[in-house]
Amino acid sequence: MPLRIVLASRNAHKIEELSRMAPEVEWLLLPDSAGDPPETGATFEANALQKARFGAAATGLPCLADDSGIEVDALGGRPGVWSKRYSPEATDAANNALLLRELADVGALSPGARSARYRCVIALVAADGAEQVFDGRCEGTIGFSPRGSNGFGYDPLFLPAAVPGRAMAELEPAEKDAISHRGAALQAYKRAQSR
Ligand code: IMP
Repeated sequence: MPLRIVLASRNAHKIEELSRMAPEVEWLLLPDSAGDPPETGATFEANALQKARFGAAATGLPCLADDSGIEVDALGGRPGVWSKRYSPEATDAANNALLLRELADVGALSPGARSARYRCVIALVAADGAEQVFDGRCEGTIGFSPRGSNGFGYDPLFLPAAVPGRAMAELEPAEKDAISHRGAALQAYKRAQSR
């Protein structure tokens, strides 16, 4: 029987990425009646655990949640856990435009000054309440203008170190999965389940 796991996310892009990377799992979506999972923590780990605990309590099933974002060194690690709501408009386009403006404002105008990483923490809360947490990172730099139309969020600006010369949004889905923070966290989760 396939493993059934509730995914405590309403982000269609995350749902797509996680389900294509772990097709062996029967992914169930959090029912609308459960409402939105809370996300009030100060760290990726706190938020991922908060969401996974909420989904497990609401459904009585194992629940997995992802909390992710981008840390930009020249901005002291911002936007970090606030990546989704970085700009007042909270759209991908406005978030990317604000990131370019802030990097210009602090004078981070050479590629070497624009180092950043994507982070993803995945939390799994089992039906009996047991908790596991997995961390994934993807190092890179912030480009100077958006490129590509795949992916979501900051992908048009993020230049992964693992694929020189291309933005994350220029990668095919399987290429992104092989190097992404979400892919790394999910691989760590899979390794732990197979032990
Ligand atoms: P969360 O739903 O609070 O975890 O917010 C995650 C936010 O981080 C997203 O809305 C994006 O802005 C950003 N983010 C996380 N993962 C990715 C990714 O794989 N590509 C681009 N942006 C991402």
